[in-house]
Amino acid sequence: MLFLGGLGRSGTTLVERLLGELPGMCALGEVVHLWQRDLRDDERCGCGSRFSGCTFWRRVGDLAFNGWTNVDVARVHALRDAVERTRHIPRLATAGAASPEVREYASYYARVYAAAAEVAGARVVIDSSKHSSLAHVLRWADDVDLRVVHVVRDARGVAYSWTKKVTRPETDGADEMTRYSPGRSALLWNAHNAAFGLLARRGVPVRRIRYEEFLTDPRAGLIHLADFAGVKLHPEDLEFLRNGHADLRVGHSAAGNPMRFTVGRLPLRRDDAWVRALPSGQRRLVGAVCGPLLRAYGYPLNITSEA
Ligand SMILES: [Zn+2]
Repeated sequence: MLFLGGLGRSGTTLVERLLGELPGMCALGEVVHLWQRDLRDDERCGCGSRFSGCTFWRRVGDLAFNGWTNVDVARVHALRDAVERTRHIPRLATAGAASPEVREYASYYARVYAAAAEVAGARVVIDSSKHSSLAHVLRWADDVDLRVVHVVRDARGVAYSWTKKVTRPETDGADEMTRYSPGRSALLWNAHNAAFGLLARRGVPVRRIRYEEFLTDPRAGLIHLADFAGVKLHPEDLEFLRNGHADLRVGHSAAGNPMRFTVGRLPLRRDDAWVRALPSGQRRLVGAVCGPLLRAYGYPLNITSEA
């Protein structure tokens, strides 16, 4: 199982969509939201169907739980509240063994992954849930070969993205995605990225990629990540990558960024709008708060809008 981690708006959805095109890989979207948004609210799958109407997910539910109706969503939520919180990461990272609650919560995910792999005929399933706390929980899952792709994007680009309005098409425009102030997203950026560093120090295979670098050469990026996932690629496997865009097939992402609905042409270009659009005071604030990690990841601290 390949877990795509990082703070939201760091590019995990795009990386997931491209990985999902590779043979032997099946992209599931943000499984962390499956319980509420799909089982409870019956939102749309990436294929466009309501979750209950999607054949892929119906078969996964049959195989994993003998039908989704056998999943006690209230129990999953209670377990999540008990174990999957950012404040629990230090305990999850130091414990010699996981609590029964951690193991029970992780087992719901393990069953979904195993069933999805079987239904899709895939060797690797991809969960782009992003949350570092969930990655720390899944470390304790039985029968899950956890490998983490830690997607990092310049904190100032992430901060700018969090200030923008984005509607959620799965709710037919009735709902907007959360927004954060730059100061708040800077603190979250530090905490989530540091948590993936901690996961790596606990022995979990973690491969860090910079989103901007990945977009500069997606072909090299995908070869690198497929190798990390243990999948061997042939040149024709990357033919969906064209000059400046990718050609995507229909996917069955359960939840996540609106890009999960894209079929056909997906532009592959860097979005550096923040360099001009993020006010300089906010840029300095985020640069100061995130300076140490930005530097550690190789980002230049002084960027002027004239550049
Ligand atoms: Zn579907």
